[in-house]
Amino acid sequence: MKKITGVDILDEKIKEKLTTANIFKIFNRFIIPLITKPEQDFLEELEEYLMNELEPKVNLDHDVYELFPILGKVKLMQRLNAYKHVRRHGMRYEVLLAMAVSIIDPELDLARVVSGVIFSNPCFQYGENDKIKKIIDEVMSGEKIGCICITERKHGSDAVNMETKIEDKGDYLLVNGEKIYTTNGPVADYFIVYGVEDTNDPRGSMYQVIVERDFEGLETNRLGIQSVPRVHIGQTIFRDVKVPKENILGGRGLGYKNLFEGLVAERNAIIGSSLGIAWLVAIKALIYTNFRDQFGRSIYDFQAVSFPITKLFTELMAATELGFKTATEYRKVEKYEYQSKIIKYAAAFSSGTKFLASNLAYRLCYEAQQLCGGIAFTDNLMIDKALEVAKVQEIIGGARNIQLYLVSRAVKDMIRLL
Ligand SMILES: Cc1cc2nc3c(=O)[nH]c(=O)nc-3n(C[C@H](O)[C@H](O)[C@H](O)COP(=O)(O)OP(=O)(O)OC[C@H]3O[C@@H](n4cnc5c(N)ncnc54)[C@H](O)[C@@H]3O)c2cc1C
Repeated sequence: MKKITGVDILDEKIKEKLTTANIFKIFNRFIIPLITKPEQDFLEELEEYLMNELEPKVNLDHDVYELFPILGKVKLMQRLNAYKHVRRHGMRYEVLLAMAVSIIDPELDLARVVSGVIFSNPCFQYGENDKIKKIIDEVMSGEKIGCICITERKHGSDAVNMETKIEDKGDYLLVNGEKIYTTNGPVADYFIVYGVEDTNDPRGSMYQVIVERDFEGLETNRLGIQSVPRVHIGQTIFRDVKVPKENILGGRGLGYKNLFEGLVAERNAIIGSSLGIAWLVAIKALIYTNFRDQFGRSIYDFQAVSFPITKLFTELMAATELGFKTATEYRKVEKYEYQSKIIKYAAAFSSGTKFLASNLAYRLCYEAQQLCGGIAFTDNLMIDKALEVAKVQEIIGGARNIQLYLVSRAVKDMIRLL
């Protein structure tokens, strides 16, 4: 990878204050009162591990994937699903994980969420045979990488009407088509692919299958996404790819149901990452502006700096409360698996929160950059990198308008009560 880091121009006195330990110290002051005792213990142990084992290995000139095994070693590729002996799991733990990893390295968390949650959650939910269990083990170790292929050139927001074909050929399924914007795709070992047997009946004929890197007919190419240079995002082409039946996660028609259930988990995990980015940048801006002097005083002493920062903190505190509430509501989806009203409610709730948290992260990074000044455009503060990742978080898992569309439909449903 081309070197993208530059020289250090940060004042030594400020640098001493801007340590990750200090960022976590302030972060914990806000977060600890919102979470349970077991969650507090998890967060504190997690932060120690990330600071001691992960952060020293982060190199902004290298792809993020070399860091996956460090997370996998202690079962931190995800915390949504129960895995092996891990006791502390569930959506609230996943949100805490996403926040803490994003504070260390937002690009890493983007790729982790795709492999560890968006790819792996359907494997945990629907994969029953030994083959899928082996795939889960490999991806959880961080040694292998997963990705998800939904979006196509002509079908983005309108994902249901996809054109990728998956046909039952008796002994195997045959996949043909092209997916784009596949996060992790160019380096992935495993691909969850959605396709339909009949384009006139996508809901009734959608499959969800796992394609493996060495399957003949699979081709991946990298797209030029400049905002996250350490994450590979690609075009994924399937030409007569034969998929054995043991690689089916959702059979004919079930693929559609699985697609929409998976999106709720995906949005929740993205909420965690967006909140992590927002806390990272808000705290950095708070520290920096307090120790940076202009006109003989700290720039935070100018109300034109401190008030906008305070406003952002206020919004962030509210969004964080809502994020935890959304993660708690996710349990209802698990508990009331067959009650469509509750699932619909949780889906709309997660869309609203995803809209709010990812948009706030973007605005907060942009505003913080203006409030901190030139240094926030360099790699010394990581605010510019966080801003770029925040932009991506806002579109993945469904663009901003689509989240609003889902909420607007749920809100309109209320009219039926009248
Ligand atoms: C960096 C990145 C990573 C991604 N990773 C993945 C991945 O791993 N796997 C994957 O499958 N996809 C991935 N995506 C795709 C992403 O989910 C889509 O970009 C997104 O769903 C929007 O689709 P689109 O880009 O085709 O935009 P379009 O659907 O063409 O939408 C364009 C604009 O029109 C608006 N719009 C569309 N329909 C409506 C409507 N009904 N009402 C109001 N507004 C509407 C949208 O909100 C948007 O603003 C990724 C995208 C990016 C940029």
